[in-house]
Amino acid sequence: MDNSNLTDGMHVFVDALLKNGIDTIYGVVGIPVTDLARHAQEMGIKYYGFRHEQSAGNAAAITGFLTKKPGICLTVSAPGFLNGLTALANATVNGFPMIQISGSSDRAIIDLQQGDYEELDQMNAAKPFAKAAYRINRPEDIAVGLARAIRTAISGRPGGVYLDLTTALLGSTIDKTVADNSLFVPVCPAPKQIPSQESIERALKLLGDAKKPLIILGKGAAYSQADANIREFIETTNIPFLPMSMAKGLLEDDHKLCAAAARSLVLENADVVMLVGARLNWLLSHGKGKHWNPAVRFVQLDIEPKEIDSNVRIDAPVVGDISSSIELMVAGLGKSPVKASSDWLAQIDADKSVNIQKMAAKLAAVTSPMDFYTALGAVKEVIDANKDIYLVNEGANTLDDTRNAINMYQPRHRLDCGTWGVMGVGMGYAIGAAVTSGKPIVMIDGDSAFGFSGMEIETVCRFKLPVTIVIFNNGGIYRGDHIDLSGKGAPSPTTLMVSARYDKLIEAFGGTPYNVATPQELKDALASGITSGKPTLINCVIDPATGTESGHISSLNPKTVAGK
Ligand code: ADP
Ligand code: MG
Repeated sequence: MDNSNLTDGMHVFVDALLKNGIDTIYGVVGIPVTDLARHAQEMGIKYYGFRHEQSAGNAAAITGFLTKKPGICLTVSAPGFLNGLTALANATVNGFPMIQISGSSDRAIIDLQQGDYEELDQMNAAKPFAKAAYRINRPEDIAVGLARAIRTAISGRPGGVYLDLTTALLGSTIDKTVADNSLFVPVCPAPKQIPSQESIERALKLLGDAKKPLIILGKGAAYSQADANIREFIETTNIPFLPMSMAKGLLEDDHKLCAAAARSLVLENADVVMLVGARLNWLLSHGKGKHWNPAVRFVQLDIEPKEIDSNVRIDAPVVGDISSSIELMVAGLGKSPVKASSDWLAQIDADKSVNIQKMAAKLAAVTSPMDFYTALGAVKEVIDANKDIYLVNEGANTLDDTRNAINMYQPRHRLDCGTWGVMGVGMGYAIGAAVTSGKPIVMIDGDSAFGFSGMEIETVCRFKLPVTIVIFNNGGIYRGDHIDLSGKGAPSPTTLMVSARYDKLIEAFGGTPYNVATPQELKDALASGITSGKPTLINCVIDPATGTESGHISSLNPKTVAGK
């Protein structure tokens, strides 16, 4: 037989990726996807090999958040697939577009549960954790399968898509001309969703009648990249705004209308709150209860109709993409002007200045060993001098205190634990952000959080990425001074090694290590890490006796009978 015009599923798949402008894959190879990755690299796709699929998936997810294009994660069958699935689920919960592509074993054997190598019904396992899960069985379906995955990931509320590539598909043959002709780029895969004019007018009317209006910016607002119009709406109306964690920097945190330093006051007093790409989930105490004005009414801008009324009644829903919605809101101000009162702003300013002073005092206090705020005082000086830095942040106290202490100045530059409050995303996010932006990344991590994905420092060093990792090492989950309640002297459930020298780890891979115990040492090390552009790890010694159990969310722990 003349095979000269035959190609195979693996090659067609790479052609389809290229056709769709996909230029980066994060993954871990093995059976049956090793050659797929090799060939993708051969054809010009950048391939970033990781040490664990979860971090590869997190890198893909954050690439999706930063670019509005699906980040791609490649995994092997069964266990590799499952390792990546946590990241896919996290992406879906956070609304980040990504596609997890996984090889899978023999369908016939899997379906009869006859015990194949790495046997698992991956597509069905993925379904509850993803926005959608698809399987491609035939080479002639590759182009459609990929188009479907891309469209699903980025349209509407973005999310994670699972795409199953069977071993048989990767090895199957197809006529090259037929395959070439099957390739296409989906037309308008994330169409504008324009809200009704009526909903815009209703929203502006409600805001216009408010005595104490407030805007809450969420990561959906950050994702939409409607930065200029969001700024214009806020600056024209003078409505104070509160950024959710990953929306920090959409307008700079030291903007005169930023109410972050008066968070409790504005939530307790605002009578109309406009949510822009932010959900009334646990992070906003579901829009009710003691943190909120009981008479508050809501405007909500969201692309997902099902989000409206999910926790409390929404008086003015604006269902559409934020870019289109905010553009119409700005335009509508001509006819329905909205202006926040100077009394309301003065009330906020008074509260802000008290809280900003309190924070400044905490950051300036020098304790020995350093507590979280002393260390953050040093970090803040360096970040304020590098306003375009990407900041990856995870931990408990490390997360909460950093979010409160460190100002952000650029949109989409703060990447953190997000909706699930998950640990272990940091290294993947740092690598994904470094690859996507080409800019220096600073990661502020708790010692516990770092442990989940610490081996990726080898990945950072292998690819020579400009990532500076600062580990706030207080020797434990929450804090490092807890004891074994049985009296046997074993490490307590929250205990980690306070004497650990995390800096030594990066030495093994040729990165730059620092071990610091004073604010000045920390400042110098962090500034050097950033300017060097080289992989750097700073072990920052923090007092094990500092740290609050569960950080700012202790209240979420169960209240037991014996509870203290
Ligand atoms: P945060 O945690 O910052 O409050 P959430 O993740 O809870 O943010 O909410 C983000 C919201 O933004 C989601 O409800 C999502 O549907 C919405 N969203 C995401 N992208 C867009 C977009 N382009 N246009 C409109 N809404 C969007
Ligand atoms: Mg700790």
